[in-house]
Amino acid sequence: MEERIERTMEALRANRMKPYYAENSAAACDIVRELVKGDKLITSGGSMTLNECGVIDMLKKEFGGAYLDRSSGRNREEVEEIMRKAFVSDTFLASTNALTENGELYNVDGNGNRVSAMIFGPKQVIVVTGVNKIVKDLEEAEKRVEQTAAPMNTVRLEKNTPCAKTGVCGHCHSEDRICCSYVTLAQQRVPDRIKVIIVGEKLGY
Ligand code: SF4
Repeated sequence: MEERIERTMEALRANRMKPYYAENSAAACDIVRELVKGDKLITSGGSMTLNECGVIDMLKKEFGGAYLDRSSGRNREEVEEIMRKAFVSDTFLASTNALTENGELYNVDGNGNRVSAMIFGPKQVIVVTGVNKIVKDLEEAEKRVEQTAAPMNTVRLEKNTPCAKTGVCGHCHSEDRICCSYVTLAQQRVPDRIKVIIVGEKLGY
């Protein structure tokens, strides 16, 4: 695993993204804390990983003045307003559906707010990912979404889709489909705008 992480970090560097390694969730929080210091506006996409590793709690507690929390008691209109504000934020945080050993971030979105903010807008993007999301290549990344990430998310979100029942993608045309925009982030134009923190734990799905 260590070799695999090193190889992935090297590939991220080659793609002009800045990799970090955090042994555990607490260390990941320390890195995020340093990176967002002095920010006036911090936003995030929906993410089990950010919740599980304690980053969201840390931001709420320590950066309450700057962090726009989209989770607590907001109606749909307010949430969408926060999604738009992400484009002018200093930092946008998210996780990724998969991170390839070639240094690519692969994500499939329903609303598209996460992938679009990752591509353009926020001054910096911090991606936090558990080691469980490292895959060999884009083919494995697609498989990971179809067989793990999307089915688990549809169950969590109580969506009426084939994958919520069977645990694998049924390539549906359901009203509830959460797979709408398929995005691969590869070599970046702005060096180090995207930071990727790999945490030595299993986080999210
Ligand atoms: S396309 Fe439909 S069935 Fe396939 S993973 Fe997405 S929501 Fe599930």
